[in-house]
Amino acid sequence: MKNRVTEQLGIAYPIIQGGMQWVGLAELASAVSNAGGLGILTGLTQPTPEALREEIARCRAMTDKPFGVNLTILPTVKPPPYADYVRAIVESGIRIVETAGNSPKDFIRVFKDNGITIIHKCTTVRHALSAERNGVDMVSIDGLECAGHPGEDDVGGLVLIPVAARVLKIPVIASGGIADGRGMAAALAMGAEGINMGTRFCATQEAPIHDNVKQALVRGTERDTSLIFRTLKNTARVYRNQIAHQVREMEYRDGGCVFDEIRPLVIGTRGRAALQSGEVDNGVISAGQSIGLIDDVPTCDELIRRMVAECREQLRIASGWAAGGPDVHG
Ligand code: NAD
Repeated sequence: MKNRVTEQLGIAYPIIQGGMQWVGLAELASAVSNAGGLGILTGLTQPTPEALREEIARCRAMTDKPFGVNLTILPTVKPPPYADYVRAIVESGIRIVETAGNSPKDFIRVFKDNGITIIHKCTTVRHALSAERNGVDMVSIDGLECAGHPGEDDVGGLVLIPVAARVLKIPVIASGGIADGRGMAAALAMGAEGINMGTRFCATQEAPIHDNVKQALVRGTERDTSLIFRTLKNTARVYRNQIAHQVREMEYRDGGCVFDEIRPLVIGTRGRAALQSGEVDNGVISAGQSIGLIDDVPTCDELIRRMVAECREQLRIASGWAAGGPDVHG
């Protein structure tokens, strides 16, 4: 599979493992890259810029293929020293960065001056256009289905992806709701040149999280996610567990709540503990609606091979359909 995304990123298949807080460690990123996709380390999962440098070195020892680093700029309990994380990324010789959350415009110049390809992840076409104007190389656009922060506009991928592909000149990567080769084929048919997956990669052998969490994703249906932080205008799609339930009760009670009241329930370190201990009800666990499509825990290599084969098959069926052939219901 060759297109602008595979060529610019130097990867075999246009499949990107997006940044995920507490999950984007070297084990997962290197496994995805070794399988021909693009693995991404999550910058802020590392407690300090120095720890990020070490994690980059650890990942490099596990793969000789390209991998990237995610830098997310969103409200945080403890604001991180972004400029120092940026310096760690640049000085470690990283060639690909995934920015997410708010506009990355303060850091674009330093990344570009150092020959870094920037994939900006955003949730609206207007932000994608502004990122393109500011000089990012690709946009990863997140539909309402996605895990983590889907934005406040509530546009699903079926509309968001083709609208983005119509108006952007740079490559569009479809994100949210994709977990199999059918979704990948659909994304390509809608004008995307690649796909980004998070939740699907959490349910792989190499994801550095407890098996209980992986099994919860396998068991979960497409109805098992919740939107929290809506009332704070920082919406997050998460696994529908006890914590999500409690947060929603507080948000929607008479008078609502302020962030400080729900902080002890949602703080990231508690989410990390839940991912590591396997106590799936004891912290916020990000998950997208794609959990309805997940029913096993393969290796990243098995997953990517299977998806590419299924995507090719679906595109073959679609071209048969276009030619009026017999495979129309394939
Ligand atoms: P944290 O402990 O700083 O905060 C926990 C959650 O509360 C996060 O979702 C955060 O956005 C939200 N939050 C914090 N302060 C808030 C406020 N004042 N108002 C409203 N919401 C608030 O989170 P963390 O786990 O240490 O992660 C750090 C940041 O990186 C978070 O913003 C997180 O969402 C983000 N992140 C997201 C992804 C992704 O895949 N979407 C990846 C990496 C990091």
